[in-house]
Amino acid sequence: MRTGLYPGTFDPVTNGHVDIVSRACTLVDRLVIGVAINRDKGPLFDLEERVEMVRREVVPLGEDRGCEIIVHPFGNLLIDCARDVNATMIIRGLRAVADFEYEYQMVGMNRVLDDNIETVFMMAEAEYQAIASKLVKEIARLGGDVSKFVPASVEKALKAKLAL
Ligand code: ADP
Repeated sequence: MRTGLYPGTFDPVTNGHVDIVSRACTLVDRLVIGVAINRDKGPLFDLEERVEMVRREVVPLGEDRGCEIIVHPFGNLLIDCARDVNATMIIRGLRAVADFEYEYQMVGMNRVLDDNIETVFMMAEAEYQAIASKLVKEIARLGGDVSKFVPASVEKALKAKLAL
């Protein structure tokens, strides 16, 4: 039984996240999506809303691929969260070079904290690679069309949240 942990803020979940989840499903038997509480980041959507959106969009992907998907909010250290859920790997998505430096440091430090948990990097399909939640929120806030970047239910939630 191989368990992976895919952590993030998911504020909100995008087509990039969904693509990474569908790929990660083929590597593990159980995929835990760790939704970071991240109060400091001042998320647009509160934890319950982010969890609900992630659950709605990704749980069916696991059913189609024979992988159990669990959505798990967490507020502790990532490596402790990985231990709590018995994950042997942490899955991260890589976009531009800009992601690399931060991820490089995280792997280095997490390895010191626990050398039994490997970090695996995945890249989304080309058309989803540039998507970032932060930019999606900016576009939506300014009334732009985000339908190519997020699932339809998330687009609706963004409109409602921003009262457009
Ligand atoms: P963001 O960085 O957009 O705020 P998260 O913190 O929720 O998103 O990201 C969670 C994980 O998903 C990170 O490993 C991040 O690099 C990855 N990710 C986010 N968007 C994409 C994408 N478009 N393609 C590949 N990986 C992505």
